[in-house]
Amino acid sequence: ALKVTGGEVCFDAVKFAYHPDRPILKGISLTVAAGQRVALVGPSGSGKSTIGRLLFRFYDVTGGAIRIDGQDLRDVTQQSLHDAIGVVPQDTVLFNDTIRYNIAYGRADATEAEIVAAAKAAKIHDFVMSLPEGYDTAVGERGLKLSGGEKQRVGIARTLLKNPPILLLDEATSALDTQTERDIQDSLNAMGEGRTVITIAHRLSTIADADCIVVLEKGEIVEEGTHEAL
Ligand code: ATP
Ligand code: MG
Repeated sequence: ALKVTGGEVCFDAVKFAYHPDRPILKGISLTVAAGQRVALVGPSGSGKSTIGRLLFRFYDVTGGAIRIDGQDLRDVTQQSLHDAIGVVPQDTVLFNDTIRYNIAYGRADATEAEIVAAAKAAKIHDFVMSLPEGYDTAVGERGLKLSGGEKQRVGIARTLLKNPPILLLDEATSALDTQTERDIQDSLNAMGEGRTVITIAHRLSTIADADCIVVLEKGEIVEEGTHEAL
């Protein structure tokens, strides 16, 4: 099982191809120190989401290695890896159940107080309390009764409740209104406290806040540095 001591993530000369004739990542070397926040940017198709999929081990690298606190992902159980990494995807999938169920998904043992604390940190609690049925509100098929920003904040609350040492965020490319964007940025910043955060960034605010920005192009890192330096 993976034993997370600090949450350092190391990509060591990582190569990957979905198909042998078409290399996607051509030797990515990047170390994200424990507690550091890295923003991954680059054109569409450059391989950003692929890096996330490899970290979660949806696929194995075809060259090099990925290590968390020195442990090769291929040497740890899938369960322990998934416990260590919280993923906030562009489109959070909600279940046709209540808001409470959706926040507590994966943490069936969570108390009401823990659920409310996670919802507050994700800036969704006030919205939930404004609904006639509160946490018992049914979100509908695929969460259709909630807006995109509300769904994402439910997903953030779910991840907060899971409390993983490493976070992988894939930001939505779609435009949000400024208040929603600010709310989500606040909850993401709160969530990042004391964790290693890798964000596939589309928002300028995220990029400006990152400790390090990594620019990917055609499967290679072409630039790396702080917002000021780049
Ligand atoms: P975007 O900004 O549009 O989300 P990205 O940088 O996240 O782009 P990836 O999703 O990592 O890009 O894709 C990198 C390349 O790999 C693309 O050319 C894409 O077509 C290809 N690709 C992605 N997923 C698969 C797959 N399952 N099978 C084959 N090729 C894939
Ligand atoms: Mg992507």
